[in-house]
Amino acid sequence: MTVYNFSAGPAMLPKPVLAQIKEDIPSFQNSGMSVMEISHRSDLFDNVIADAKNDLRELMNIPDNYKILFLQGGATLQFTALPMNLATQYNHIGLIDTGHWSTRAGEEAEKIGTEVTTVATSKNNDYHQLPEYTDDDNRYDYIHLTTNNTIEGTAFSKLPKTKNVLVGDMSSNFLAQQYNVEDFGAIYAGAQKNLGIAGLTVVIVREDLIGKKPLPSMLDYQLLANKNSMLNTPPVFAIYAAGLTLKWLKDIGGIAEMEKINRQKSNQLYQFLDQSKMFNNLIKPADRSLTNIPFVTGNKELDQELIAQASDRGLVNIKGHRLVGGMRASLYNAMPMEGVVALTDFLEEFEAKHL
Ligand code: PMP
Repeated sequence: MTVYNFSAGPAMLPKPVLAQIKEDIPSFQNSGMSVMEISHRSDLFDNVIADAKNDLRELMNIPDNYKILFLQGGATLQFTALPMNLATQYNHIGLIDTGHWSTRAGEEAEKIGTEVTTVATSKNNDYHQLPEYTDDDNRYDYIHLTTNNTIEGTAFSKLPKTKNVLVGDMSSNFLAQQYNVEDFGAIYAGAQKNLGIAGLTVVIVREDLIGKKPLPSMLDYQLLANKNSMLNTPPVFAIYAAGLTLKWLKDIGGIAEMEKINRQKSNQLYQFLDQSKMFNNLIKPADRSLTNIPFVTGNKELDQELIAQASDRGLVNIKGHRLVGGMRASLYNAMPMEGVVALTDFLEEFEAKHL
């Protein structure tokens, strides 16, 4: 049975990436060692990390004045590291509140004494749409924005206008749709959705924003950049897997092409949901995510039955996040159109049987 994994992360890997890993495991580039065994100080690994950085720079069109860091601790640790490194002038950040993960970013910043002001929120709309935000003066060290809301199913296709530095948590739509890096002072993302496996977090940061004060070494972007992300032992295997995923994305034709495919995939599911008499996606159409699509029947028992039956058919991990319930299909880059068609066919069948 073909299994399609709709998990929000860790998530599906592209088939060619898995095949390459399988081939490399016994002996990476004829070294007689797997990539899990090689030293991070070896020439072999130097090439792996250099290629991954160059490919990411090329794919996202990252200007030279931005540093690329390969870190650990997940996006969650960056909720702390970002204010430590960037909130040095006002010790004050603005938060665009679009749901759970943006709230978490604010909570962690507050724990280290950074003042956090919610500058916009769509809480009153149950986060079913994105809030409006514009400003015309610079009084925050940065405005924090979650480009894609993994749990709620919204995404910013157009960024808010701000005179402040914009920081983007891109964890769940990194490399899935196009953004202009220069619109941000910093971008960060965990790798386990669109860039391979868990254990790696990417930070892309404008160099003039960092190095303002001494910090604990593992949280000091300037020091980490100076050490080429190898201040200590980096997540070697996760960086290698990210490198393969980036090559795969280049083969597909880059982010513009990927976004086109992701729009086709998400349209397939949204169109089905919008005409269905049983299923609903509650998100304002203009604010809908390409990568995380929550939907409900309005009947908890029916949801459970559906999730169990889907799983029996190889359509796994469609249970919604506990905060919103229902179902959620995560359609990251590695999910093929066939997986989305298999899901909509199944939902159609289920609806016909139960209405
Ligand atoms: N931000 C967003 C938007 C996320 O989806 C997640 C994880 N699902 C996180 C942050 C936290 O990431 P991590 O588990 O890598 O710390």
